[in-house]
Amino acid sequence: MNRVRCLVLNAALGPLDYKVPEGMSVGPGHVVECPLGPRTIIGIVWESERLPGTEVPAEKLRPLRSILPVPPLSAPLRRLIEWTADYYVASLSSVARMALSSGGALKGPATITEYRLSGGMPERMTPQRHAAMEALEGEQATIRELAGIAGVSDGVLRGLVNQGVLEPVEVDCDRPFDQARPDFTQVDLSESQKIAADTLSEAVRQQKFAPYLLDGVTGSGKTETYFEPVAEALRMGRQVLVLLPEIALTENFLHRFEERFGVTPVLWHSSLKSTQRRRAWRNVASGDAQVVVGARSALFLPFRNLGFIVVDEAHETSFKQEDGVRYNARDVAVMRAHFESIPVVLASATPALESLQMAESGVYAKLDLPSRFGGAELPDIDTIDLTEEKPPQGMWLAQRLIDGIAERLERKEQSLLFLNRRGYAPLTLCRNCGFRFQCPNCSAWLVEHRFTRRLACHHCGHETPSPAACPECGEPDCLVACGPGVERIADEVAERLPDARVFVATSDTLNSPGRAAEFIAQVETGAIDVIVGTQLVTKGFHFPELTLVGVVDADLGLEGGDLRAGERTYQQVAQVAGRAGRGSKPGEVLIQTRHPEASVIAALAAGDRDAFYEAETEMRREAGAPPFGRWASIIISSEDEAEAREAARRIGDVRPDVPDLMILGPAPAPMALLRGRYRYRMLMNARRSVQLQDVIRRWLSSLDHPPGVRVGVDVDPYSFV
Ligand SMILES: [Zn+2]
Ligand SMILES: [Zn+2]
Repeated sequence: MNRVRCLVLNAALGPLDYKVPEGMSVGPGHVVECPLGPRTIIGIVWESERLPGTEVPAEKLRPLRSILPVPPLSAPLRRLIEWTADYYVASLSSVARMALSSGGALKGPATITEYRLSGGMPERMTPQRHAAMEALEGEQATIRELAGIAGVSDGVLRGLVNQGVLEPVEVDCDRPFDQARPDFTQVDLSESQKIAADTLSEAVRQQKFAPYLLDGVTGSGKTETYFEPVAEALRMGRQVLVLLPEIALTENFLHRFEERFGVTPVLWHSSLKSTQRRRAWRNVASGDAQVVVGARSALFLPFRNLGFIVVDEAHETSFKQEDGVRYNARDVAVMRAHFESIPVVLASATPALESLQMAESGVYAKLDLPSRFGGAELPDIDTIDLTEEKPPQGMWLAQRLIDGIAERLERKEQSLLFLNRRGYAPLTLCRNCGFRFQCPNCSAWLVEHRFTRRLACHHCGHETPSPAACPECGEPDCLVACGPGVERIADEVAERLPDARVFVATSDTLNSPGRAAEFIAQVETGAIDVIVGTQLVTKGFHFPELTLVGVVDADLGLEGGDLRAGERTYQQVAQVAGRAGRGSKPGEVLIQTRHPEASVIAALAAGDRDAFYEAETEMRREAGAPPFGRWASIIISSEDEAEAREAARRIGDVRPDVPDLMILGPAPAPMALLRGRYRYRMLMNARRSVQLQDVIRRWLSSLDHPPGVRVGVDVDPYSFV
């Protein structure tokens, strides 16, 4: 009797056994349709010895329905799914779901109908038709897409189809992408770039697991360096995965990639259309997609022949997924390389302490790029003590910073002001009665956005028009903005330097690749003098005329008592400082602070990275924090406050007593209400010797909760809200 065990895509179910029908040939990794009651569910055939389940008698087994027309998931990917589920205390099915991330792709080959101009003329020409036909010259796309391009309704184009002016073309949904050419251009590398590139290229040829940390100051040419091993993998006919933290803002990267390899890479991120998604997925699975550039979810794509992984800006916290399976893509990337037996490189100018520690202990090999490419020098960094150099009443920028910007204006150079706060003001209150605008769904203040005249919650997206009168006391025109956001800083610059052309660069204004490209073009042509931006502008941009960076409030990130606050502040300020003076002109950085003596600020001002990391390492060692000890948290939430509290209490009551493991809580989370859910937290701090995941799994599996309660586990947490 031929039977198989399947991992089915339903977290509530364990593995299920099925009968293999006569004539079906199936093995581990095959994606199959399984009967489940009256329904059909998608499953993955798995090695039964790796997936313990209850043995069902043969006569009770139901037959598999079919094998889906996709290549089987490879053994390395199956091991990665197992490891991720185990390490992050998640269900196997929720991780497997990330690998089968395109529903369309699973259905097999398909075609769509696109349309293009046939050269014919309509019986009756209208101005609207004429304009549409002009706009569609040389275009080929679906009716919906063409309507978007021409700016007319679908109906207008359907009329043109009926008259034969637009002709249909059958297109393969999964047509291959253009081929990258490893030797499209030759590049000049500095001596240290060449050493690093050669080492990585050799590792690609070796085809063995080898993790590297590429540690290079901002502007040292990390991208050009890792492009060489990418080229080597291409020459060997192998696939490459490059993970980037902010996929929406990769214009600069894509441009450099195209210059080096003659094509743009295959993109993978959450805002792909479903047709783009299936095309990418199927080309990755067939081995035809050569280089995939993606957000963290690209890690679970079904590569057929992966040869090299790059994690760029590897210190970025956006690699940590904060809901569902709470994994850290940086760490999972290293594990994928391990299972695939290939090299992986983590590239950063400000590596996470965890990564540095791995290099120090010899687990990762470290490659250094000590200087800026092309002889550009690192910027001069100075602090402005806001307790001494007070900005004028109601203002946020010290005179020295304003003078610095004015100097750049005169020299036709550019300045960047960094403040990690979107909107106009983080808090709005009533002058008359003290009423504060709070989000109804979250423990958070509403942030005023003057551009859109709205108050918005940055946690759940709740928005309301800015009212003319106080909703509490009814007093008109009584609302006061408290504290600065980027919009307010932009207003201040415009007021104090009326000639400056100011642009606010945040996720509100750069919300599409097109707008990002437009912004870059404006800066490059000198149409913008002062950029006021959030963390979005701290990385990736390369503006040779940008010679002054001002950090509006370096103390902001240090508030809140987050474990990694110091490190994050250091990384953020060092990254934004790295935007200054990237061309031939020297850069200057001015950091506004109320605590110039704080170790992180002092280290930044002195340009002494080692001093910062040493102090931070000592602090973590003493606190038993990562990488010396381990943290994990449990988040219990429900839309019902009492239900959440009760579930948290019950979990707390049966806490395990394990040596070298400290368990704190349950306590209301700092964000006690988030997106309409009441939240409680428990925090664990363990020595590295504790089998933390086993402890958590055993602990939580002993309890059942009402259906409205969610219990989430966060291993190696980054967020403590
Ligand atoms: Zn009021
Ligand atoms: Zn909210």
